[in-house]
Amino acid sequence: MEPNTKYGSHIRGTVTPRGVKIGVKKVTNVRKGGILIETVNDADLDKLISELDSNPEIKNKFDIGKPLQRNPQIICYGVSPETTEDTITNCTAPLTRQAKDIKILHNFKGARGRNWIFESTPEVFKLLSKTTKINIGWERNSYKEYIRPRQCFKCCKFGHPAKHCKETKD
Ligand SMILES: [Zn+2]
Repeated sequence: MEPNTKYGSHIRGTVTPRGVKIGVKKVTNVRKGGILIETVNDADLDKLISELDSNPEIKNKFDIGKPLQRNPQIICYGVSPETTEDTITNCTAPLTRQAKDIKILHNFKGARGRNWIFESTPEVFKLLSKTTKINIGWERNSYKEYIRPRQCFKCCKFGHPAKHCKETKD
């Protein structure tokens, strides 16, 4: 158990999706007592934020905010280890008829093969989301949107990296 779970359960206990009438996709604990809530749409997110903002008990304990908007990131699972970076970079080309419209961020060993994380434009992501699999070379791989807020390693607030942190003490 993470030491932060008590904060998450504090929010979970105080505000419920049914009470606020929103659709929640996923709740994840993040570093230093943070909690990341994904809602089914932006309107529900705004609704949740105003609900949390108007709750003094939560407002005193949490910094409430949205992660910065950025290009969608995609994680693609189980890619064979021989697959080259170039093959990944071109994987959306059959969909978009344009090569290299993705930017590779990271890859790591998964349960099967390697998992690749890349960034693309909202337009490419929209085309991609019409299918549940993505063609990489001769393989068809499952993928999903990769959602990770930008969180500062120094003060653990959202929306800026540690090098831009304004917090003076560690
Ligand atoms: Zn910071």
